[in-house]
Amino acid sequence: MTMLLHACCGPCSMYPQDDLQNDGISYDMLWFNPNIHPEFEWNRRLENLQKAADHYGVNLMTEGVCMEDYWLSKSYMDEYGSRCAMCYDIRMDHTARYAAEHGYDSFSTTLLVSPYQQHEAIVRTCEKKAELYGVKFIYRDWREGFRKGQNMARDIGLYRQKYCGCIFSLEESEFRDKIIRSFG
Ligand code: SF4
Repeated sequence: MTMLLHACCGPCSMYPQDDLQNDGISYDMLWFNPNIHPEFEWNRRLENLQKAADHYGVNLMTEGVCMEDYWLSKSYMDEYGSRCAMCYDIRMDHTARYAAEHGYDSFSTTLLVSPYQQHEAIVRTCEKKAELYGVKFIYRDWREGFRKGQNMARDIGLYRQKYCGCIFSLEESEFRDKIIRSFG
């Protein structure tokens, strides 16, 4: 069985990867995170995810670009009700469809490791997409390993971001000014 693991960033991938490796589950990773703003950060998170993939010797596919206009337009409110609902839907839709089209029998996401994400909303979205595309969703509550995963990321020198990803989460971050300075 080969599973497709959607990965939001290197640090959040560490504990789920460790768990899957320990269970002997074969998986590839997929980077598809058009929510991440700005492009500098999009590239920085991808580079660090590649390091995490290399650490475990796992194949990483890259799809998409930064789609900031979607988030700025606010037209999603009628369809999704909130920006995070749109964010989960766009990413999980692409992941489940990619899995179905490329012969994977299941998919999951590293978003399930974060205690800062809307866990139940992610699960509901994944279940909906699994049914839509006829591919199994593997659910694991990885939140118990969040700290462990962050420590593992630190130990291998991964960059650990201080905001969720979109332009709004950057503006709302208490570290906003420091983060913006880091863009150079
Ligand atoms: S806060 Fe996070 S989950 Fe919500 S829209 Fe922004 S990047 Fe996506």
